[in-house]
Amino acid sequence: MRPHLTRPTACLIAMIATAPSLAAAAWQVISAEPGKRVEIDRTSIRKEDNGKTVALGRIVLEKPIIDPKTSSSYRIVQALSRYDCNSRNYSTLKRSYFKDEGDLLREEEVKVQIEMPVRSGMLDDKLLREVCRPKADDATLAARRTADKVNSATGDLRKANEALVQQEVRRASMQTPAAADRPVAEAVASPVPRRAPRATGASVTSDTGPPPTTRTTRTRTAESGERGVNAHVQWGYEGDAGPDNWARLSPEYATCASGRRQSPIDIRDGLRVDLEPIQFSYRPSHFRVIDNGHTVQVEVDGSSLSLLGKRYELVQFHFHRPSEERIDGRASDMVAHLVHKSDDGKLAVLAVLLEKGSEHPIIQTVWNHLPLEKGEYVAPPDPTIDVAQLLPQDRSYHTYMGSLTTPPCTEGVLWLVLKQRQQISAEQLAIFARLYRNNARPIQATFSRMIKETR
Ligand SMILES: [Zn+2]
Repeated sequence: MRPHLTRPTACLIAMIATAPSLAAAAWQVISAEPGKRVEIDRTSIRKEDNGKTVALGRIVLEKPIIDPKTSSSYRIVQALSRYDCNSRNYSTLKRSYFKDEGDLLREEEVKVQIEMPVRSGMLDDKLLREVCRPKADDATLAARRTADKVNSATGDLRKANEALVQQEVRRASMQTPAAADRPVAEAVASPVPRRAPRATGASVTSDTGPPPTTRTTRTRTAESGERGVNAHVQWGYEGDAGPDNWARLSPEYATCASGRRQSPIDIRDGLRVDLEPIQFSYRPSHFRVIDNGHTVQVEVDGSSLSLLGKRYELVQFHFHRPSEERIDGRASDMVAHLVHKSDDGKLAVLAVLLEKGSEHPIIQTVWNHLPLEKGEYVAPPDPTIDVAQLLPQDRSYHTYMGSLTTPPCTEGVLWLVLKQRQQISAEQLAIFARLYRNNARPIQATFSRMIKETR
């Protein structure tokens, strides 16, 4: 507060007069999920002469994370942002990091303010709506809050996507020229495909809002298959952006370090019981392939699996080298992760371990259609892919509850790891290795998790 003493008194009075946020903040929850919530201070909302609106928002984490700049930890990130309610753009002016409520760690003014478009249905959209709507009476407010809660309860994929949006917003507004000059090797610019294999309704693509604006680029997170927004490189598999640092890259990735149900794990000492067989309803479909900067991913349509009375639709499958999961300490040469999503947004990932042997027809079909550029889809008009061919004859499996193995490491994912390995030729392995030498997250602690396996 010392700097205030040096300012002219008139200035100080003006600040108090125009900044009601100096009074007690009234934090209103905009979005809540395990591990974090997003809030806005309604008393801070202030219209500027230029017609834009300034407001204070914050992300409150359940567990503190380490601040790489100070090596201290913070739990609350507060951002002062300017919203243009007409053009639906916004930019962040200032960011404050708090160790805890009222305990400021550091503040940073955002020097290069970048206007970011607000996308419908996303978290920033909720913030914009709160900031830009006219003042309403309490009953209307309560009704709107309930509606927002319903809107926000659309499952892990949506949250994962919002996390990516927030991540982009933060990165874009924090961008220094140095950051902007970073190599784009992993940056994923992916135009919206002309033809999506899934045309309708309750699909993953329907979660992702409107087509991208010209200011954003889109990608899909490896595990969730969800389109997110991604301005520049964020996470990878080595160095500063590697798995050990994922949680430090963004508050949205906090679960990667703090979660106790993380994947992959070393699968061992499972309870050997009569597990219900997985009911596969896999059928041939058109497909499209993308190299999303983290893996090669294939999107398909019309296949599903059922387990314990629940149906999960197959959204996409992708590959890791070596396999992320281990069985009794042993990794396989590669693994295919088949990501399924239920109508209520629950994820089930089926892992098919791949080991060196004979050529695999499906993998050859995918490799034949590898895109020339990262972030570009290849959607062949004719050939179809029969995902059932990826399944081994023996469908016995290991199962446990885990997470996405890529940021934001969202938990609550049902893992089904088939015991029997499938074969892939040395040549096919070598092709993937040229793209991704290592894209496997290291083994995570199990924290005495229950693991079961078909006896
Ligand atoms: Zn995966």
